[in-house]
Amino acid sequence: MDQQEEIQALEAQKEIERILDAIKTEIPIYLYAQPGQNDVFTDVAKQAIRFFRQLTDKIVLREFDLNHESAKKLNVEYSPTLVFDPDRYNIRWLGAPLGEEGRIFLEALVLIGLQKSNLGEQSLQVIKRIDTPRNIKVFISASCPYCPQQALNALKAAVEKPELISLEIIDIQANPQLADQYSAHSVPQTFSNEILIAQGAQTEELFMLSLDRMEQQTVFIPENDAEEVETDLVIIGGGPAGLTAGIYAERSGLKTVVVEKGVLGGQVATTPIVENYPGLKQVGGKTLVDIMVTHALEYVQIFPGEEVIGITPGSPIIVQTTRRKFLTKTILIATGATHRNLGIPGEKRLSGHGVSYCSTCDGPLFKGRKVIVVGGGNSAATEALHLHHIGIDVTLIHRRDKLRAQDFLVTNLVQNNIPILFDSEVKEIRGKHRVEEVLIYNNKTKNLSTLSVSAVFIAIGYDPAVAIATQIGIELTEEGFIKHDNYRTNVPGIYTAGDVSGGYKQIVTAAGHGAEAAITIFEDLINPYWT
Ligand code: NAP
Repeated sequence: MDQQEEIQALEAQKEIERILDAIKTEIPIYLYAQPGQNDVFTDVAKQAIRFFRQLTDKIVLREFDLNHESAKKLNVEYSPTLVFDPDRYNIRWLGAPLGEEGRIFLEALVLIGLQKSNLGEQSLQVIKRIDTPRNIKVFISASCPYCPQQALNALKAAVEKPELISLEIIDIQANPQLADQYSAHSVPQTFSNEILIAQGAQTEELFMLSLDRMEQQTVFIPENDAEEVETDLVIIGGGPAGLTAGIYAERSGLKTVVVEKGVLGGQVATTPIVENYPGLKQVGGKTLVDIMVTHALEYVQIFPGEEVIGITPGSPIIVQTTRRKFLTKTILIATGATHRNLGIPGEKRLSGHGVSYCSTCDGPLFKGRKVIVVGGGNSAATEALHLHHIGIDVTLIHRRDKLRAQDFLVTNLVQNNIPILFDSEVKEIRGKHRVEEVLIYNNKTKNLSTLSVSAVFIAIGYDPAVAIATQIGIELTEEGFIKHDNYRTNVPGIYTAGDVSGGYKQIVTAAGHGAEAAITIFEDLINPYWT
């Protein structure tokens, strides 16, 4: 650890100490473990608890063998299992808090310690309706940036209604047999009473609605009028463009907020390694996002897990989200892009059961197994390298005879002996409950062949996320990006930046465009071009 990292670690530790300081009651944690079973995870669980116990004296740890009679009483079957405050709640963790999961563990300590769910008004209204038991299972992994959000939703539900809602947070690496049993081959996946109610992370309100209705919900309409907030600028999207614009706008004196429905950082959060962001020779995508978010939070208010559900242009412009209403002078649409689908038989059915769009999230489940990555661009090359480095037998499949990825990445693929099937198109993904094989068509020889694989990682590019823009009549380019002139769209007061507006789709260019857009907005508010 260099000096800079040491300072950051100390600051992070102080921040955690400050958060834990609010807890005034004891948090009993029972750790059940069976020597010889998952010892690595048991050790990590002990280390994590030891770390948090240095920062708060409220954690009371009791360790038991899996054969202990209390294990039978509490129906604990897997080693290791952490049971939180069993007299009050029915919340347990199967595995150990590794990587991204450390954040979930901290949230669990805080919610359980404060005995408060911290649910928003709209979510409380939904959860009040639940009047029969729900046993939630959330499958997570250490490297999944989407997982903390979904696990936190489930934790809040279990803390709010302990008499009806129980929760198991299941680490898929510690419990591959459970992941197999539920065919949960992507994370996060959420089951309630053994029914799949969500694939991926949801906003808090959508989670509660899915839990209430016992099926995945995609639309949440607030039931009552939300609070009104006046701003100069609402930035929709918390990726590099939105976060940078937030920093620049607030520094210019504009009252600004960033609203993000999903994971802060957008695509960067799921990029295994970034090697071309100036100043950081090699950095994990999620780490880079954490650095950016910490920096942005110094200036701008960020509303994560909040979705924009309607915009009414005018003066002021009204931005309705799942939680509140912003009355704003301007908007910056920085909604980024969403991954493309192959659109072949088997893809949708087996999504989450071996078909994946996120190698950082789901890769660890396939260690030692054979998988393919589909695509020929920078994403496909980066993901193939990542999977190879974590011990997966990976083959890259590309439809042409040449990759479009940068030379640096192509050389890396060759040096790592990663097989590449050129001129090859995946025509079908097969398997009964999970991916078992793919049907491949060689477009040069016209041959069809099959390849046995456990997973298909699809990395064939992104489409701009323009839904909210098109709803209010914002013009698009022929390629489907938001059309703009110096970041100004055709609607006065509405601006755009980042991947949704086209360009080179690099982290550094998105950040640069975010900065430029914020400066344009600031200048336009002083000298409105529309008057
Ligand atoms: P991309 O550059 O658009 O490449 C998509 C790849 O998928 C292409 O090789 C394309 O084939 C293939 N493809 C598209 N549709 C397909 C289909 N239906 N079936 C089979 N193959 C299909 O997308 P990306 O790799 O996700 O990159 C997106 C952007 O992010 C790019 O601007 C990239 O430079 C940037 N990025 C940069 C880095 C980095 O700098 N290290 C890392 C990741 C991403 P064709 O070649 O035949 O068109």
